[in-house]
Amino acid sequence: MGIVVQKYGGSSVADVEKIMKVARRIVDCKKSGNQVVAIVSAMGKTTDNLIKLAGEISSSPPKREMDRLLSTGEQISMSLLAMAIDSLGEKAVSLTGPQAGIRTDSKYSKAKIVNIVSNRLKKELENDNIIIIAGFQGETEEHDITTLGRGGSDTSAVSVAAALNADLCEIFTDVDGVYSCDPRIVPNIRKLSAVSYDEMLELALLGAKVLHPRSVEVGKTHGVEIHVRSSFSHDIGTIVKKEVLDMEHDGLITGIAHDKDVAKVVIFGVPDTPGTAAKILKALADENINVQMIVQSAQIKNINDIAFTCSSDEAREAANILEKIGEEIGAERVVINENIAKVSVVGAGMMTHSNIASRMFSSLGENDINIDLISTSEITISVTVDIEQCEKAVRVLAEDFELVN
Ligand code: ADP
Ligand code: ASP
Ligand code: MG
Repeated sequence: MGIVVQKYGGSSVADVEKIMKVARRIVDCKKSGNQVVAIVSAMGKTTDNLIKLAGEISSSPPKREMDRLLSTGEQISMSLLAMAIDSLGEKAVSLTGPQAGIRTDSKYSKAKIVNIVSNRLKKELENDNIIIIAGFQGETEEHDITTLGRGGSDTSAVSVAAALNADLCEIFTDVDGVYSCDPRIVPNIRKLSAVSYDEMLELALLGAKVLHPRSVEVGKTHGVEIHVRSSFSHDIGTIVKKEVLDMEHDGLITGIAHDKDVAKVVIFGVPDTPGTAAKILKALADENINVQMIVQSAQIKNINDIAFTCSSDEAREAANILEKIGEEIGAERVVINENIAKVSVVGAGMMTHSNIASRMFSSLGENDINIDLISTSEITISVTVDIEQCEKAVRVLAEDFELVN
């Protein structure tokens, strides 16, 4: 009994039948004595279709208008779900992100929630309403609509759970929990009963789509435990929480993430002088380009090459910025390679075992998978490989690190 926040992803509300199923699940939760707030994604492929539609009008649509457009997807599903609940005889009210009091900064397409003004939510709960909130969106101080980045409805849900001090935060999706890697690539992969915020955050940042990275960050900061589970069954899923006991955690490696939406950008022939790398990275940061792996090659004759990865949809913009800077600093040329993927292993066990990198590289090498860039952190090792070899790399590593059932 208490406040339950539930989030239903796009495939869970993809058609009318599924929306009715979700409505019944929400009504059951309410009838068990809970106050329920549900956050919804857009139906099925709606967001992709809206992006395509905008692309038919312009190759670089204004970011403000893009966010305005994409926010409509969730507004369709929220209204339909509220109608479905009403048809089952329960009171429901749908709210857009702004109506729900979700305030963000003004970075269109990747806005961050800065605050949730929860008066309206509290009032609707006091009036015994089930609340349905459009995920993935909020508004700036100037009341312009923003979106939180692809997959951002998870973040809406965990943030609302934090703001309402909810008793339960459930993320309903099309898989029945978090697995050690994408179960679509390795069907017999191990399911995790629990995973720590830190490991989940790394997996999400490195490409495991099951949770939006920012949702894990918000969960960690506000101590919201997140239950990831299936919309299509009543099985227990995976709990994302602070500490995971050894019994729940029986391997060196917790998981493998992969990301095909990355590109490598290289600036060749950069003069080796103090402050040059800073100049390059600052120019990218000023345009909010999120740079991931950064590698500077050994300098020859006072000249370096600097390579980094970023998301594919930011690669062209990144290259344009570098070309401009390159002219100023006298670099040779800029090249983009989009045919790469990033494969990463994640596990807190890495802090105490030194042989994980060599084991990972041997597995890949023995299977003829060539490694390009490498980067490491306390609990991750990431490599880039040819995009064609990405799934093979995930399968090989899942076997070698004994993550399969
Ligand atoms: P939703 O629309 O419900 O938000 P997403 O497509 O965003 O769903 O996320 C669920 C998908 O994440 C799954 O269908 C699965 O293919 C993918 N996925 C990637 N890595 C993992 C993982 N480690 N565990 C579970 N699912 C994963
Ligand atoms: N509809 C948005 C997307 O497809 C947000 C979400 O589903 O979380 O990315
Ligand atoms: Mg998602």
